[in-house]
Amino acid sequence: MRKLRVQLFLTVAFGVLVINALFAVIILSQLVRLPEAFREGSVTVAKARATEISSEIEHFSAQLELLITIPEVQMLDEVIVTGLLRDMADTQPFVRNYTLIDLDGNAISTDNRRFNVAEQQQYQDIVIDRLPRSISDPFISPNILDEGNVFIIAREIIKDGELVGILNAVVTLESLDSIVNNISLQADGYGFLVNEELVIIAHRDPERLFTKLYEGSFHNTELILLDQLRGDFVFEENGNRREGFYAQIESNPDWFLVLSFDARAISAPYRNAINTFIVGLSVLIGLAVLQALYFSNSLSKPILALQKTFDKAAQGNLNVIADDSLNNEIGDAARSFNIMIRQIKQLTYYDPITGLYNLNTFLLELPRFIHHPEIAHRTKGIVIISIDDFKKLNTISGHETGDKILKKLADMVESHLGVREIVGRFYGDEMILFMHAEGWTTLKTRIETLFEMIHQPFNVLGNRFALRVSVGVSELENHHDYMQTIHQATIAKLQVKKAGGNAIEYYNDHINYQLIEEQNMEEALVLSVQEQEFELYYQPIIDVEKNKVVGYEALLRWLHPDYQSVPVIRVIQLAERLGVIHTLGAWIIDQALSDLKKLKRHHDVYMSINISTLQLNEQDFYDHLKQQTALQGLSPHEVTLEITETHLMSTTEFDLNRLLTLKESGFMMAIDDFGTGYSSLAYLSTFPFDFLKIDRRFISQMAGDKKAQDIVSTILSLGNILDLQVVAEGVETEQEFKMIKAMNCHFSQGYYHARPKPLQAILNQLTSENKT
Ligand code: C2E
Ligand code: CA
Ligand code: CA
Repeated sequence: MRKLRVQLFLTVAFGVLVINALFAVIILSQLVRLPEAFREGSVTVAKARATEISSEIEHFSAQLELLITIPEVQMLDEVIVTGLLRDMADTQPFVRNYTLIDLDGNAISTDNRRFNVAEQQQYQDIVIDRLPRSISDPFISPNILDEGNVFIIAREIIKDGELVGILNAVVTLESLDSIVNNISLQADGYGFLVNEELVIIAHRDPERLFTKLYEGSFHNTELILLDQLRGDFVFEENGNRREGFYAQIESNPDWFLVLSFDARAISAPYRNAINTFIVGLSVLIGLAVLQALYFSNSLSKPILALQKTFDKAAQGNLNVIADDSLNNEIGDAARSFNIMIRQIKQLTYYDPITGLYNLNTFLLELPRFIHHPEIAHRTKGIVIISIDDFKKLNTISGHETGDKILKKLADMVESHLGVREIVGRFYGDEMILFMHAEGWTTLKTRIETLFEMIHQPFNVLGNRFALRVSVGVSELENHHDYMQTIHQATIAKLQVKKAGGNAIEYYNDHINYQLIEEQNMEEALVLSVQEQEFELYYQPIIDVEKNKVVGYEALLRWLHPDYQSVPVIRVIQLAERLGVIHTLGAWIIDQALSDLKKLKRHHDVYMSINISTLQLNEQDFYDHLKQQTALQGLSPHEVTLEITETHLMSTTEFDLNRLLTLKESGFMMAIDDFGTGYSSLAYLSTFPFDFLKIDRRFISQMAGDKKAQDIVSTILSLGNILDLQVVAEGVETEQEFKMIKAMNCHFSQGYYHARPKPLQAILNQLTSENKT
């Protein structure tokens, strides 16, 4: 997580440090040269001043050189001392006097003094050591106190190649002081003169005069001589460290000019510079580190935040939103991410057709709703809504319409939901809801209201639709496994579907039992269709007037020992749902036609066969029927196809046309259970039926119900008008029979005449009748 930030920081900090280090090296290399330059400069100054002093001494020396060429001087003539020499001394500013000395050291000076200098240095140097010249160290003149310090420049006097005496010049130190004292330099720098013994011989401070420069030896005297360039040393003065730069006085190599500086003051600017530089560098590095931190932080922060968001999304949390407020590439990335996540979310969470939660999301969200404390004490339920015949609707009206209808239903359902209730798309045409109310009754009422709302007709793509839905409900008790509840609601919904749809079913244990039973039955039925475990029973149809059997209706019987009591109508519906009706229907046709042949041996009858509308969808049915009729050597006139009125209404135009071709081939058509559906008159008149079978409900009610009688007689008149033969079904009593007979009903069928019986029973009966 912190890697990026650390990397960024290190990179930036490293870069800044490298730049700083380079900078430091350059500056330091300059700084290092600073004292060096100072030293070199100081040495140069020292040398220049030393040269000045040297030439000053040389000046006096040159004068002496000139004077000793004078014959009176060479003869040590005293007259010259009070004459020319005195005049010279008076005019020379720094020469206090001249002294003429003989070889015994007897001296006579231009200021009229006589004394002996045999003990003095110049005498030693010139007379004893035979040096041509001698320069003394300065000293306090013992003769005239006020004159200050002096030094002596002495010169041998040679006459005819023989040393005859010495000529002295006593020079005031002022001559040099003016040079030395004029040296005023930075860093408390000043100059002074020392001799070989490091005794200070000229100094601006009279106190220091004739004192040792410092105790101990001039530790690098030798070096001075060897290395004229680098004449520097360190010494102490009044407790202060001073640095000296010296240069030898050429004309008097015993003397050295020293330029003295306050060591601290010299290094001060250097040290200051270094210090300033170090402080500056530290501040700079500090700032750089801060800047690097700030930079890496400000750069990495949004990236890290973005990465955190990505991570969350990767972990499946699609509710994250990246901060896209930045106006740079990171902001762009965040914006793209947000768009992407929105799309993913849409695709992941929602069903694209209805806009509802998809099942996955519904199941994910459901627990949150179920366990919400605010609805803890309310009655909760899972509701599953399934559109009836949606597949058919899709095939007939097209998928676009189908999708729009789903969306419409979704909207209706959603609008009905309250707080903390959700709906999701379940499977196919189904929606799953989680609802709650104060109690079971309220919940039921709300579900029923929704059910009614769904039935409101609406327009889709120019067509008007009214939905029929199967609704399964199961109560979700606290601490119940909600998946179990969903399963139960599904079972309840299935139950509705099986019962014909368009109703609400509330789950109970009985339903579950029923369902299992049904499943077993379904499996058994599929097996029975394969094994042909069926039989056809026949019920005679009587010509009312002639009181004679004219035909038989074939009625299916399932031979399975467990399911013999299951109503045939349910077996047929089941076969339709399980898709085995075609096989079963084909078997019924084969069986009924072959049995008709056997019955015809006894009397001239026709066979009425019940046809499921689903059979009409298949071309095979038409081909098969014609083939079998021909195969059995039967005429289509002897075969009547019974289609129930309700089924007829849902028959497509295409199938009706195919049915018509059968009619044209000579097959007879009967409209079954007439009165239960809503066939329009126009419909009845266009499709050329031969028979109309009045549903037995009307017949059984006729006895005590005038209305039922009226209906029957109306149907009969309708039949007459449309030229249809009318069959009364379910005639059970003599009274009923008499009534229909009185109404001129053409045919009668029912228990009153005979119950449906196996072929063999009928054949047996016919055989015995024939015998009698
Ligand atoms: P449906 O076509 O109306 O058949 C007449 C039904 O009325 C038969 O019931 C018959 O047993 C019953 N019935 C006849 N006379 C009386 C009577 O006097 N009183 C009473 N209470 N009932 C009487 P079943 O055999 O149980 O068949 C029920 C329905 O199952 C049939 O009604 C028909 O719609 C369907 N069905 C039966 N066999 C077939 C078949 O082979 N194919 C097809 N597609 N449907 C069949
Ligand atoms: Ca029938
Ligand atoms: Ca019927």
